[in-house]
Amino acid sequence: ITTDEGFETAVSDKLIRYGGPWAKVQIKSAHGSWLYDPAGKKILDFTSGQMSSVLGHSHPELVEVIKKQCENLMHLNLVMVSDPVLDCATAVTSMLPKGLDKCLFVSTGSETNEVAIKMAKVYTGKFEVIALSAGYHGMTHGSAAATFSYGRHAAGPSVPGTFILPTPYPYRSPFRHPDGTYDWKSELDYGFALIDRQSSGSLACLVIEGIVSTGGILPLPDGYLKAIKEECVKRGMLLIIDEAQTGFGRTGSNFAFEYYGVVPDILTLSKTLGAGLPLGAVVTSTEIERVWHEKRGYYGTTHMNDPLVCAVGAKVVEIIKRDNMAEQSATKGKFMKTAFEKLKEKYSVIGEVRGRGLMIGVEFVQDPVSKVPAENLGQAIAARCMETGLSCNIVQLPGMGGSFRMAPPLTITEDEILEGVQIFDEAIA
Ligand code: PMP
Repeated sequence: ITTDEGFETAVSDKLIRYGGPWAKVQIKSAHGSWLYDPAGKKILDFTSGQMSSVLGHSHPELVEVIKKQCENLMHLNLVMVSDPVLDCATAVTSMLPKGLDKCLFVSTGSETNEVAIKMAKVYTGKFEVIALSAGYHGMTHGSAAATFSYGRHAAGPSVPGTFILPTPYPYRSPFRHPDGTYDWKSELDYGFALIDRQSSGSLACLVIEGIVSTGGILPLPDGYLKAIKEECVKRGMLLIIDEAQTGFGRTGSNFAFEYYGVVPDILTLSKTLGAGLPLGAVVTSTEIERVWHEKRGYYGTTHMNDPLVCAVGAKVVEIIKRDNMAEQSATKGKFMKTAFEKLKEKYSVIGEVRGRGLMIGVEFVQDPVSKVPAENLGQAIAARCMETGLSCNIVQLPGMGGSFRMAPPLTITEDEILEGVQIFDEAIA
């Protein structure tokens, strides 16, 4: 990896530290599944940027739309609506069932969840929020209050009325029986029993990801989301499903909620919708939107419904549908998962390979019996991969394993997948 002279000094002199480490890598350009450093060295991107560039970097059709839209209309006063916004709303809702009929477009995933939680509070007239212990929903104040994966410090000093449900984690849950079966139902009942003791009876919503990503790519157990929905109905709460990462084909279906057979009251979409540009959508029913409006719900920000990014969003949806990206993700995902499962047979430090479509978790342990997380090993492998040409991401939460999150662009080829897996194999070795 090469960097221009002064790059690292400039980083430390000029940038506010965000709370985590910087990768000491300077990227000059990116195309398809590849990133390039200043010397032209190639790095394969197994994270789609920040889990966003589902169509690969600088997809030519997106570049074309951006150029054309820039020449005509980029930004407007927020009371004005333009065709690209309506096109994007039509495109997004064309992929969704009835009950997900109306859209509001914002810039980031944090913002989508900020809007969704506010909408649920206005709709129900209540204020308490439930989220999973390893969930991630954003870094702005309200969305961070529902982001327990980073603990309370993500939201700053305490936000009242937010409660934790244990993340379903079959590999490590204390509700896993010695025979390997996992009693998620008892775990869930226990979680709700604790919340009901803490709640003042003002539960407004539960926010949950399609696959818990920051927890280490944890798909929800079969039946889990249906049970969650029933609990929400019982308590008069709205169900918000956050498909920032899982939306638009990533998991082998257009949306993860389809796989579980549950339609959310509010769906939040971001990352994959803009495919690398800042675009998020909050989608809900005509009825919830009506009540939100009647109760004088308000959300208006500078870049809400911006034409430039909405033109991109409409094109992303068109390409996802036209090129059957969900199907491609299912097929390539199986291919990739098989390759990682072969590595699991080869290396006892791989404890589990899991996930769906092109969203695969590879968890590292010190040994498969103790399952003690192999934190330093994972970090060392990630660093070695970066040196030898593969960008991949590892998450490590307290009390949980160290897991790689493999989520390459859905446009990746099988040869590129094999190339990446080989780099990973050599790094482990
Ligand atoms: N929800 C999920 C599931 C996410 O993974 C993220 C980003 N990691 C967010 C919300 C927040 O999105 P953003 O960083 O665009 O605000």
